[in-house]
Order: sequence, then C-alpha cells, then structure tokens
Amino acid sequence: MKCPACAHELRPMEAGSVVVDVCEGGCGGIWFDHFELRKFDEPHEAEGEALLDVARDPSVFVDYSVRRTCPVCDGVVMMRHPFSPQDNVIVDECPGCGGIWLDAGELAAIRTNFSSDEQRAEAAKAWLTKTLDAHLTRARREDRQNQADTEKIAHLLRFLCPSYWIPGKQDWAAY
Ligand SMILES: [Zn+2]
Ligand SMILES: [Zn+2]
Repeated sequence: MKCPACAHELRPMEAGSVVVDVCEGGCGGIWFDHFELRKFDEPHEAEGEALLDVARDPSVFVDYSVRRTCPVCDGVVMMRHPFSPQDNVIVDECPGCGGIWLDAGELAAIRTNFSSDEQRAEAAKAWLTKTLDAHLTRARREDRQNQADTEKIAHLLRFLCPSYWIPGKQDWAAY
C-alpha cells in the first residue's frame, strides 16, 4: 500500500490490538481504517502513544495543497474536513471506505485538543450540512453534472453521522 501523501511504501505498525499503516521513513503520516482512529484520538488512550513518533525522513516534501487519493480504494479522492470543532486539524477521509489519513503531527494535535464523540459528530455534521447544501444547490442547478459528488457526500454521511442519512427516493439517497 502506497502513502497517499508521498508515495513511499506504508508498513504495518501495531498499536495495542490494532494494526495501522504508517509511512515510516517517508513523510511520517498514518493511515487508519474505518473507525480505527477513534481508538487513539483521546489523550488517555495510551496505545496511541506508539504512533506519535513515526520515524520520518525530513527531506521528504509533502504538498498539502494537493487532494489525495485513498491508498485502499482505487482512484477515490479523499475529502478534507476538520476533525473536531476546536481543531484546526484537517483530516483526509475516504468517502469510499471511511479510512482516515493523518499527516505527521496531526495525531498529536488531535489528542491534545480532546473533544467528545458528541462534539465531533456535531462538528462533522455542521461541516457536512454546509458542504452538502452547497453541493445540492449546485447539483440542482447543473442537474446531473454533480450527481457523482453528491453521491460521495451521501456516502460519507453514513460513516460520520449515521443519524443524519439523507432521506428520499432518489437513487443516490443513502437509503
Ligand atoms: Zn508518506
Ligand atoms: Zn478508501
């Protein structure tokens, strides 16, 4: 599996009962499969400490302005969103598999700015509602052009906010 940020080969790293994929010797980022991150995002979750110093090569250049593709799903572009209300940490989340990519240092920042699951759900919902509204408005205007985008957002909502699925009989609705 290749690093989505620097294309270095990721390697599995054990953290407690979970195995994540780290870009050791590359950019130092970490890939979490769906729901894995929540086992490490709080400061008292000691298993996450092993993941705070993934050895990185300081000469590896990471372009943060480039959208990344999921290392698991073929060709799926990940979506960027803030991790929690008070975070300026912007994570990359795959709308296909729900995996999350953190750049070097982002896990430490997330653990420092502890927020409850409820606060995070609220932040994600607020962000997604805003994004979704923009997409829907545009989708209505441009008809089917943005349908693929809207489908991706609907899919993402299922991962982040199961209680906020999009109702409707449209074929892109989440249920
Ligand atoms: Zn990397
Ligand atoms: Zn994926």
